[in-house]
Amino acid sequence: MRKIRQSKKLRNVRYDVRGPILVEAQRLEAEGHRILKLNIGNPAPFGFEAPEAILADVMHHLPESQGYSDSQGIYSARTAVAQYYQSRGLKDTDVEDVFIGNGVSELISMVLQAFLDDGNEILVPAPDYPLWTGAVTLSGGTPVHYRCDEDNGWMPDLEDIESKITENTHAIVIINPNNPTGAVYSKQMVEALVDIARRHQLVVFADEIYEKILFDDAVHHHAAAAAGSDVLCLTFSGLSKAYRVCGYRAGWVMISGPKEIAEEFLEGLTLIANMRMCANVPAQHAIQTALGGYQSINELIVPGGRFYEQSMLAHRLLNEIPGVTSVKPRGALYCFPRLDPEVYAIDDDEQFVIELLRAKKILVTHGTGFNWPTPDHFRLVTLPDVDVLEEAIGRIAEFLATRR
Ligand code: PLP
Repeated sequence: MRKIRQSKKLRNVRYDVRGPILVEAQRLEAEGHRILKLNIGNPAPFGFEAPEAILADVMHHLPESQGYSDSQGIYSARTAVAQYYQSRGLKDTDVEDVFIGNGVSELISMVLQAFLDDGNEILVPAPDYPLWTGAVTLSGGTPVHYRCDEDNGWMPDLEDIESKITENTHAIVIINPNNPTGAVYSKQMVEALVDIARRHQLVVFADEIYEKILFDDAVHHHAAAAAGSDVLCLTFSGLSKAYRVCGYRAGWVMISGPKEIAEEFLEGLTLIANMRMCANVPAQHAIQTALGGYQSINELIVPGGRFYEQSMLAHRLLNEIPGVTSVKPRGALYCFPRLDPEVYAIDDDEQFVIELLRAKKILVTHGTGFNWPTPDHFRLVTLPDVDVLEEAIGRIAEFLATRR
């Protein structure tokens, strides 16, 4: 019988956050082991609850959510998103500029399918949230990675970006606050990135899903869209992280800048949105309430709040391990520590995290899974309670002691 193979389109597509390491974790679980999963930024399993008003909204609207909605999204959700960006200083955003999707993930894939021709290059940060690299590749594009500089708080290396722009470069991806590094970009940095886009006529894809998870009073989020009304910018965000409802699958993309130059692309995006009918309708109803209501996230990101305390603890404990350095996260839900290659000789970091998993029953993700070029980092999700986190990092330290 002829073997059924996967399509050639998938040949270079990777998404290691849920890849072979997760398969190994599931195998161990089937053997009866309890695995602490610190590989996915999903707050709910760690005791975080969504704001009551969001649940009430979804339940209230269930009876009237049985049919498909407009494929761009329900009107109240799109208005709420447009107004949210207006309140952040973007004066021209309109309900027509917003597409609601099943999370940012779906919208990233939809946008890239509508945007890319085979071989078109897109600048993607290294390290990145790997869906970007995978989705560019699956859409026929070529991801070209630009370096973020660990010695400079993981800021994008502007010279490296400039040096990688060719006639075939069509867009730049900015992930701010950043997954996996926890970096939050200054206003000057955001402006410098948008300025590169302006000078080279690139579209900006701004993934700002962690925009409300910022740990320091001095840290503010600067939306790329606000840095240049003359640059076409697609801003991605949603409810998964700040409102702790990853499972609802509610996200949006907002288009700003000179939309008149993008009419054909936007027709393509509309076609793709139409082909998948619409996003999950009950969750769309939560968007207006989430954006307009009390922002309970603000209690979690200050001293005494769980997101803040856990991130700071993880950062401190990781840095206490010999040969480990971790840049202080300014936002998001992760630490991305470095394992000094002089202390830990790691050739294959995926194998390294599998060995950690087998020995200590803790699942983290290897750095090369985030398109980091060298096998000397891993990403830890900082979502467990401080006690669990302390225990987990203690076990990681014990494992590392066996590798020096
Ligand atoms: N973008 C970044 C940077 C993320 O970290 C994630 C999820 O971890 C997503 C997008 C996907 O989010 P969503 O749940 O909205 O699909």
